[in-house]
Amino acid sequence: MLTQRLRSMSLLPHALRGSQRVITFAVRKPLIATVEQQQPLLRSFSNDYFISTKTHNKNKIIYASFQCKRLFATVPSNNSSSTFRTMAFYKFHDLKKDDLPIFRQQLLDDLGKWGIVGRIYISTEGINAQLSCPEKHIDQLRRYCQETLKPTVGELMDLNLGTEPEAGERAFRALHVRIRKQLVADGLDPASYDLKNRPSHLSPARWHEKLSNYKQKHGKDPILIDMRNHYESEIGYFEGAIRPNVDTFRGSIDAMNEICKNIPKDQEIFMYCTGGIRCTKAGAILQSASGFETVHLVEGGITAYGRWVRDREQKQDNYKKQPASLFRGKNFTFDKRLGEDITDEVLGKCHICGQPSSRYQNCAHASCNLLMLCCSNCASQFLNTCGRMDCYDTVHDFKQKTTDHHYFKPDGPIMIDGVRAFVKQGEHGEERVVVGKTGVKCEHQYHRRVRAVEVLGEPGNILKEWVKAGRELPPVANATATSSSSSS
Ligand SMILES: [Zn+2]
Ligand SMILES: [Zn+2]
Repeated sequence: MLTQRLRSMSLLPHALRGSQRVITFAVRKPLIATVEQQQPLLRSFSNDYFISTKTHNKNKIIYASFQCKRLFATVPSNNSSSTFRTMAFYKFHDLKKDDLPIFRQQLLDDLGKWGIVGRIYISTEGINAQLSCPEKHIDQLRRYCQETLKPTVGELMDLNLGTEPEAGERAFRALHVRIRKQLVADGLDPASYDLKNRPSHLSPARWHEKLSNYKQKHGKDPILIDMRNHYESEIGYFEGAIRPNVDTFRGSIDAMNEICKNIPKDQEIFMYCTGGIRCTKAGAILQSASGFETVHLVEGGITAYGRWVRDREQKQDNYKKQPASLFRGKNFTFDKRLGEDITDEVLGKCHICGQPSSRYQNCAHASCNLLMLCCSNCASQFLNTCGRMDCYDTVHDFKQKTTDHHYFKPDGPIMIDGVRAFVKQGEHGEERVVVGKTGVKCEHQYHRRVRAVEVLGEPGNILKEWVKAGRELPPVANATATSSSSSS
């Protein structure tokens, strides 16, 4: 019925034609009597589409508007088989602005057919991709990069696979290709630097060796700059790195210029980031705009270094002759995982209880969204919220009203008393399930520039708020989970 209705409005053929294209449209029609009756219809339709609905009850007729996005029928969302690998690649390469829409469509069509999900940015600067690819299609993707993409963007680096040794769940829900002004926004006049002035790309092994021997060779510590944001370097970093307290790449560039201000231009500068793209740009800026002779970066960033450390440990088995990883802790990633472990060290602190934790989460209340460190114990106790009573109560009350604990159904959103669970897209395209009230505009839609400490105070403070309000803390979710350590 819904399908027919959409077809009769000539919306569906359009939707089907643009195979993997994200389409959104709204239908505002008297539909059927109740929301309950509506659900099965949506479900039948949502095998292929993710649909979010808004209903308006006016004069006892339910009006519904739909927003729908094509998902991949080949990757049913209830398929929990762990067969995906997360990876990235990027390339700075001059592309023509007019060619971008066609390129975008080509990527959606070509990668969509293998069930690849993730986020790709294209711009006149080139391409930057973060993907989850079914393991069985990785060779095809590799060939695709070498054969099909090469004529458009030039020679690509090899796929920068995540450091997890095994295939896992996909880290993204759908495939998005977005056209952007820049691959990495720097706030500079593009004429002021030259991206073709490429910094030195060291293999992880060379990077490790050069950094390890620097002091012995030069009698001083190397200038090593972490080109990431504060929340990234809070949970993991290279030993001895300068970690600027910044929120954006622009901030990193300013910090880099400040650090390098009084350094002789012939001194080597080392820098690193998650996968290498930010340093490729920052290094080019430092070389072309500031005149530094040699900027080194680790090819493939922390991710590639982490993979190298892991492979080397496996090869060496028990007799370790070489020093361990120069990187400590966790590599923050912009996907569902929010990070990958490089070493076992836990460098962060849970913002609710103050115990060691490098686990990031965004508050599950849609209109809060605060990014914070939260240990898994507090996460389950406070239902993935930031721990403030408002956020906790909204999510808690909503979950109480649902019959089972699966309060989010992938095949259609559930709404109870105006509160619903839905998929929310983050600043970088990452998607997650949140709970919120419809129609309630976010007072403070927190993004990564808002620091948890500004909202929650110091770690542990929020627990005092509960005491002050005379409230008992939420029950600890599962007694069986208390024995093991809490901290990852
Ligand atoms: Zn905690
Ligand atoms: Zn919150």
